[in-house]
Amino acid sequence: MFLLENTTIVDGTGAPPVSGMDILFDEDGIKGIAATGELEVPANTIIIKAEGKAVLPGLIDTHIHMDLHGYGNTYDENLVEDKLRSVRTAQEMARTLRSGFTTVRNVGSVNGIDFAVKKAIEEGYVQGPRILTSGQIISMTAEGNDYFLGLYHEVDGVDEVRKAAREQLKAGADFLKLMATGAVMNPGGVPGAPQLDVEEMRAVVEEADKLGTHVAAHAHGALGIKNAVEAGVRTIEHGTFLDEAGIELMLKKGTYLVPTPVVGYHMAAHQEGIPAHMLSEHDHQESSADKAHRAAIKAGVNVCYGTDAGTNYNYHGLNAMQMALFVEQGIYTPVEAIHCASLASAKAIGLQDEIGSIEVGKVADLIVIDAALLENLQGIEKGIEQVFFGGKPVEGMPPKL
Ligand SMILES: [Zn+2]
Repeated sequence: MFLLENTTIVDGTGAPPVSGMDILFDEDGIKGIAATGELEVPANTIIIKAEGKAVLPGLIDTHIHMDLHGYGNTYDENLVEDKLRSVRTAQEMARTLRSGFTTVRNVGSVNGIDFAVKKAIEEGYVQGPRILTSGQIISMTAEGNDYFLGLYHEVDGVDEVRKAAREQLKAGADFLKLMATGAVMNPGGVPGAPQLDVEEMRAVVEEADKLGTHVAAHAHGALGIKNAVEAGVRTIEHGTFLDEAGIELMLKKGTYLVPTPVVGYHMAAHQEGIPAHMLSEHDHQESSADKAHRAAIKAGVNVCYGTDAGTNYNYHGLNAMQMALFVEQGIYTPVEAIHCASLASAKAIGLQDEIGSIEVGKVADLIVIDAALLENLQGIEKGIEQVFFGGKPVEGMPPKL
């Protein structure tokens, strides 16, 4: 049993910080939360003095690519042998956990690297976060897909698409990822253009439904977004050209938006080696994406947290940077940014009963930061002092970023 003593709690529900609090927990979950000194503390409890610190729920990133490393030119990934890539992925997932992200949703991987590393973590060979993974991305036959060898499962027509969905689930996918529009990252790809048809996407949603899981849709263009929402996907990834009608539809269906502005932030900060087709596409998309994100929030659309970690210079372990970016851009207050990356994201991936907030009975995924970081979250990615994952302290702290 552990007691975090005399700390400030930001519980992830969007409620303001409360100081002078104690949290009692173990591997079975959070046992008690009360003003300092009020809990009955069992003998042999390890007491951690946490005055001046803030405790947050373990953070959740709903959009990462665990087996991409963050190369300036993502094509270089094709030159790394799968076995080496798997070991690197394991190391980077350990870093992700130490950086405060206790749960990640991996939206597309190559050759089963995701399944292997997830298994290695669950077997205890390596340390890492709770992982929900999709396996390959289900896509129609499209130009540019070969830039990421093995990432896309190309299929056409309802029957083929349904079969691909079943194959990913058979391989171990926890949910499914599909392409509703073209992609920025793929040369020749047209981000605004719709891809899979509504009927094709509906087949994927039906197969996910049978197992009580959900579908994530990569979608930039307005028509592709509406097609995906119509088909019943749970999350719209990126949502760059989301329009009024799309917002209406998302509100009606309760669909989540996963904006990923930190991708453009890293590209602008580095540039070196980034292929021209990625830079130019990003330049003329950034303001549209920002407008769409703000309009969605204003209208009350569900929004969750995703960083596209693994893309260009977007290294695993830096996942929390986007929270500070949201605060800096006036999109969220610090407490709202924390809510987005905790309870809102837990709801998006269907794990809200177990994780996402600091409440008695929930899993003890907790992170400790200096309370001063709550002012604007600047530098939070380097300020994670301790992580408890399932009630156990994570080793190797602080992380080397
Ligand atoms: Zn992505």
